[in-house]
Amino acid sequence: MIKDSHKHQGNRRKLVSLLREKGIENENVLRAIGNVPRHLFLNSAFEQFSYEDRPFAIGAGQTISQPFTVATQSELLQIEKGMKVLEIGTGSGYQAAVLHEMGAKVFSIERIKELFDRTGKLLPKLGYKIKTFYGDGNLGVPVWAPYDRIIITAGAPIVPEGLLDQLKPNGIMVIPVSNGDEEVMKTITKLADGSLEVKEHGTFRFVPLLDDKSQ
Ligand code: SAM
Repeated sequence: MIKDSHKHQGNRRKLVSLLREKGIENENVLRAIGNVPRHLFLNSAFEQFSYEDRPFAIGAGQTISQPFTVATQSELLQIEKGMKVLEIGTGSGYQAAVLHEMGAKVFSIERIKELFDRTGKLLPKLGYKIKTFYGDGNLGVPVWAPYDRIIITAGAPIVPEGLLDQLKPNGIMVIPVSNGDEEVMKTITKLADGSLEVKEHGTFRFVPLLDDKSQ
């Protein structure tokens, strides 16, 4: 098994500096990215590139998101220690590990069985206590609801209604919503009276959120 070497740690420090230059300011996010060994979440063929700011294929037509995207979504979530966070799209498990490292209690759901099986084994092996689920994230994970925060890590055609129901009052959802060509990163805050405040944070590229009939 590949270890976490001084070289990997040095490359992570360089990645953290790059993310700072690109505008990431939250020290908890930067610390988490500085600690999580991204090279262990990738196919070993990509090991030497693991700390470049790029997405990589993880199998089943899916990707591990670019570190800048992971950092942006993590920053927008405004995580405080002990918060319950639901992630839609476990994929490689890297984003979930970053949120865990930031002090969140992470629940993560994946639609593709192959990825659910692989990542469900990897996370505990690396010491991350994250509850993983197999199913359609459009429906959330009602049994553990409500959540302080919800993050969607695939491009959504619309904001899934059922997910908003699983968000606590004053909770925040971070969701990339597709406009046909690319995804607009949105935060949706559920105010105490139940009304929604929507803000936009630039455009990104994501693989599409699958519906219940895909796969
Ligand atoms: N968060 C992942 C990581 O850190 O590697 C990256 C996610 S990748 C960009 C998007 C993931 O969302 C893929 O693993 C994909 O299978 C999953 N996905 C797509 N539609 C889904 C759905 N309806 N429910 C749950 N997961 C879904």
